Amino acid sequence: KLSQRLQYIMEQIPAGSRLADIGSDHGLLPVAAVRSGRVPQAVAGEVNDGPLRAAQKQVAEAGLADRIMVRKGDGLAVIKAHEVDVITIAGMGGALIASILDQGKDKLASVKQLVLQPNVGEDILRRWLIEHQWVLTGEHIMEEDGKIYEILTAIPASESPFKQDELYRPWELPGSSLVLTRDWLMQLGPLLVKKPNKVFFRKWKLEIRKLQDVMAQVSRSEQESAQHKQEQLRKQIEQLEEVL
Ligand code: SAM
Repeated sequence: KLSQRLQYIMEQIPAGSRLADIGSDHGLLPVAAVRSGRVPQAVAGEVNDGPLRAAQKQVAEAGLADRIMVRKGDGLAVIKAHEVDVITIAGMGGALIASILDQGKDKLASVKQLVLQPNVGEDILRRWLIEHQWVLTGEHIMEEDGKIYEILTAIPASESPFKQDELYRPWELPGSSLVLTRDWLMQLGPLLVKKPNKVFFRKWKLEIRKLQDVMAQVSRSEQESAQHKQEQLRKQIEQLEEVL
């Protein structure tokens, strides 16, 4: 059975899409997507031999070798231009996901949707998206087995009814004097922050605690910047919780 995380990612794929899942590991996502009839075919990309073999095995055992192409290669190198409509990249750091997209830019022309699940460094990914004319259409935060995950979906700016910049316009919290700057929106997530759930608050309270730990460990000058950041974060989260 698919984890809730992978299930949610799968549900963001528009029915009938041609899918590439990059860094597929066991190939669980493409197998579930094809088996359920959501997508007719898929590419599973893997750069490492162990996961590649695991994906091949999974696909063979599911009897889907004619519809899921397991390919070895770095990032988007495994797909041809115009071969897929949707790309999923999950379970890696945001910086790695951004670099995979950046190095594969020539493959993105036909892609209508990205579904991305960075484990960390979500702000780096949001920055890459806005700088490369991708508009966030969805942000979801969820917890499973004690881990917190963010799932971002994006479409090309040319297909979007609104401009990405609107999402990151500094946002004055209703009923408060606090203004969330563009930088903070990049960190917190412009869509998440406007509709925060319990998991969102749990994540950022944990982050505040981590910053407190950092302060306990680092030198005095570093401490000042960590303290400043923690103070800002605490204010924002407290006020968010109060007014929303
Ligand atoms: N996507 C699956 C998921 O979310 O459950 C697997 C996540 S697993 C933690 C990350 C996978 O990405 C590993 O199997 C790793 O080999 C693969 N990977 C890392 N860098 C990659 C790259 N540049 N291109 C393709 N795959 C990569």
